[in-house]
Amino acid sequence: ARQRLVVGNWKMHGDLDLCLETVSVLADVVVPQVALVLCPPAPYLGEIRRLAQGTQLATSAQNVAELSGGERTGEWSARMLAEIGCSYAIVGHSERRRHHLECDQLTAAKAQACLDAGITPVVCIGESRLERDNQLTEHILSRQLRHLVQIPGWRDVVVAYEPVWAIGTGTAATPDEAQAAHAFIRACLAETDPVAAGDISVLYGGSVSEHNAAALFAMPDVDGALVGRASLSPQALSRIYKAA
Ligand code: 13P
Repeated sequence: ARQRLVVGNWKMHGDLDLCLETVSVLADVVVPQVALVLCPPAPYLGEIRRLAQGTQLATSAQNVAELSGGERTGEWSARMLAEIGCSYAIVGHSERRRHHLECDQLTAAKAQACLDAGITPVVCIGESRLERDNQLTEHILSRQLRHLVQIPGWRDVVVAYEPVWAIGTGTAATPDEAQAAHAFIRACLAETDPVAAGDISVLYGGSVSEHNAAALFAMPDVDGALVGRASLSPQALSRIYKAA
C-alpha cells in the first residue's frame, strides 16, 4: 500500500531556533497513516533527532553520497544518516542537478546507497519550463525514471515530482497538471513492474502551500508533498500536513 507523506525541505535555511520551534509545534500533531518528515540542513539533523525523540516526527537529509565511505571531504554516507536515526534522504533535487551537476545515473546510485543502508530515498524528478513549453515533459520524466528502475531496490523509493518551473515561483502545478504527471510516472514504472508502480508513493513538490495542498492531495495519484518555502513556517507546515 502507498504511504502518504509530507516532507518539509528547508533547503539552506533555518537555524537552531527553527529546529526547536518546528518540533514544538509539530510534535503533537498526528495525522494517522501520514508520515511527517523534517528535512533541515545536515548540521541540524542530529539536533532535530534529539528534539523529536519519542514523537512521530521523521527526519530526512537533503543529500547523501553514493559511496559507503572513503576520501570524500564534505560528503556523508547513508549509513551515517541511519545511525543518527534519520530515515529518509532526498536525492536528485533539481538544485543538486543544477548547481552540483548531478545526473540521473548519480541520482540512481545515491538512491541505491540509501536502500542498502536501510533508509528511504526521495527521488526528485521533473521538467524545466522550457522542456514543458516544448512538450518534452513526458520525455524528460521517462528518461529520469529509466535510470531509476535500473537499480535493484527501486520498488522501495519514494518519487517526488517537482516541476522545476513550479519550485520557488509561487505558481504550483494545478491539481490536474500534477495528476497527469503522476499518472504518467506510474505508467512508466508499470512498464517494469505494474504492482510496484501502484504501490510506490509519488509526492508533488513546487510551491505547495496551505492554500493549495488539499486540492493537490485530493488527486488520486498524489500521495503527499515535498514542501520548500512553506515548511519554514511550522504553522503552515502543520496545516499542510493536516490536509494530507
Ligand atoms: P518550494 O515549495 O519553495 O517551491 O520548493 C519546492 C522544493 O524544491 C522542495 O524540495
